[in-house]
Amino acid sequence: MDILTGLLIWAAEAVTLAVLLFSRWYYEREPLYLSWGSGFAVHGIGAALVAMRGDIPDFVSIEIANTMVLAGIGLWAAGLMQLDRRPVEPYVGIPALIWIAGMFLDPVRGDFASRAILHHVAAMVGHAMIIGILLYHRGPPSITRRVFASVIGIQFFSCALIVLMVFTGRPDALVAASHSPWLYLPTAFVFVGSIVCGARLLTERSELTLKELARTDPLTGVLNRRGLLEEFHRSKGVDALDGSMIAFIQFDLDGFKQINDVYGHQAGDDVLSAFARIGAAAQRGRGSFGRMGGEEFASIIRVSDMVEAASIAEAIRSTLRRHPISVGEHRIAVTVSAGISLCSTKDADIDVLLTAADKALYVSKTSGRDRTAVHTDQEIMIVPSTDFASPTPFAAEPFEDISVSQQVASLKRIVVLSQ
Ligand code: GH3
Ligand code: MG
Ligand code: MG
Repeated sequence: MDILTGLLIWAAEAVTLAVLLFSRWYYEREPLYLSWGSGFAVHGIGAALVAMRGDIPDFVSIEIANTMVLAGIGLWAAGLMQLDRRPVEPYVGIPALIWIAGMFLDPVRGDFASRAILHHVAAMVGHAMIIGILLYHRGPPSITRRVFASVIGIQFFSCALIVLMVFTGRPDALVAASHSPWLYLPTAFVFVGSIVCGARLLTERSELTLKELARTDPLTGVLNRRGLLEEFHRSKGVDALDGSMIAFIQFDLDGFKQINDVYGHQAGDDVLSAFARIGAAAQRGRGSFGRMGGEEFASIIRVSDMVEAASIAEAIRSTLRRHPISVGEHRIAVTVSAGISLCSTKDADIDVLLTAADKALYVSKTSGRDRTAVHTDQEIMIVPSTDFASPTPFAAEPFEDISVSQQVASLKRIVVLSQ
């Protein structure tokens, strides 16, 4: 087989794949199919133009064709970034730009050996980019990504070998080698390997998306009950030995049925989403926040003591109290009640924590709502509030106004009393 046949076979395969990927993009509108499809189309047509050297103007078969081949590598890299759901970085254009820059240098443009070296070095930069994108990513480690990176590594080293051959043996060696099947074997292997790995990465991503959907609340975007319980078991496994405590904070919006009745169900949904945002923002990476169902939310958070758990619950409660939620032209004053239970991470049992938090929440509700109660070992205590006593719809008894330091001092007294 000569190099012309090889290039034409590759062009036909690449264009066929491009058509398949374009049709997938047409139905799914997933940008990565467009990038990968364009990558194969541009790369394949570029290879065909290289093969037509002599029959078409040199400018097309050299300058344009090689730019296309290298732009194709950049488009594959762009598709991989889209696969990871991150923005496409402009550096994917570097392989094609290296070639274009070289074409402005007369000695390079006019010499076959220099052009061959330039092309393969630019391709190696593209392969290194792809390997980097595959290996350095957020998300769980993936064997497929490592195998894919190794497959591209083979292509990288075969380009390096060609550069070496041209350097040492001058172009004759390359021309001779281009008639050898040994040059096509790695390329064919890389082609098949890349398709298998790319398809596998897509399947893995779909599986991950399904898993995420199964643990996410579709209305608010926070974890659902299942996701929260999974997080509980995960953090219990990770932190069981470090002596920390785990707190379960249960939240229940006050008089939510009335909000639905007065402002409508859609407004109720907006209130749920707004509260989920407040709750999720308050975790600051220390725990998980989710919706248990209806207008009930919960936080599972690692804390050093009860004071810390109470301050997190109070921060969420008072933020909601101080910020009425805008829905259309309405500003809806919403309050929430919270119940906290906690225990050492190694002894944590979710059923015990849930029952205790539920009891504490019940005390918050029956004591007038818009407050936090803690289930200590002996009893259930209402957390002293720092709120200024502005009336809220559900505050049966107004709070005493105290400062944050007073609140912390009172909480510490509760801790001492309950030990
Ligand atoms: P309390 O202060 O005692 O908690 O009273 P409440 O009205 O908040 O509690 P109740 O359990 O009586 O009402 C909960 C309401 O939440 C009833 C239900 O229609 C509403 N609800 C549950 N899920 C959703 C939802 O997804 N969207 C909306 N808009 N409302 C919901
Ligand atoms: Mg409820
Ligand atoms: Mg409620």
